[in-house]
Amino acid sequence: MRLRRQYLTKNDCYQTDRTISVRGVMVHSTGADNPRVSRYVPGDGEMGRNTAGNHWDRPGLTKCVHAFVGGFADGEAGEHRGWHAGGAANNTHIGFEICEDGLDDPVYFGKVYREAAELTAMLCRKFSLDPLADGVVICHAEGHERSVASNHGDVLHWFPKMGKSMDDFRADVASLIKDGQSPDPEEPEGGDEDVTYEQWKEFMDRYRRELSQRPAPEWGREELEQAKALGFTDGKRPQDLASRQEVASMILRAQE
Ligand SMILES: [Zn+2]
Repeated sequence: MRLRRQYLTKNDCYQTDRTISVRGVMVHSTGADNPRVSRYVPGDGEMGRNTAGNHWDRPGLTKCVHAFVGGFADGEAGEHRGWHAGGAANNTHIGFEICEDGLDDPVYFGKVYREAAELTAMLCRKFSLDPLADGVVICHAEGHERSVASNHGDVLHWFPKMGKSMDDFRADVASLIKDGQSPDPEEPEGGDEDVTYEQWKEFMDRYRRELSQRPAPEWGREELEQAKALGFTDGKRPQDLASRQEVASMILRAQE
């Protein structure tokens, strides 16, 4: 699961600063063919950026949710969240939106379904909720049936087409919790950004790539050229980290 947090601080429901007492999770889907999370939030380098200015971080919108699940800049699924957006469909359920595509792509559906299940599992752990208990994990359409939400069909116009019912979803959430596969909500808390271990590894890879593209500093260029000429190093990626193996090779070459 990939989490990115970005508060929609200019959205009116953030401004009202209401908090809710959480008794459940409501699953929505957006009702429009646009699988990018950045359609709905300003975005960043990883999520992709909203360049049209039509995201939800604006005043005057009557809608906002706690999270979005959808495509990131690299085409993989990810999830954006902002807990304190407040003002969801009602005062008991945290709401999140799954970004819809054309509702005909099982691969995209599989990715966002998994992200949605992981997010719901994490929320259930965070708020000590039983996903199988009556009325805890529901979609918007089920909320309407229960007279706690407005009249919308999401996600029952989509999930069944892809062979999934909300009962399947609840069961999948429960098994994620049982298998311990829902990330521990307490673990990643720290500052404004929550970083999972998987994400940290991605950052580390990205950082290594950045380092490896940096040129040698001015003071070390002559020495690097000398070391190259003497065959200690190939002189590539001079600012990257060296492994113990690489250091050993360099020492041996220096002794030859
Ligand atoms: Zn909805």
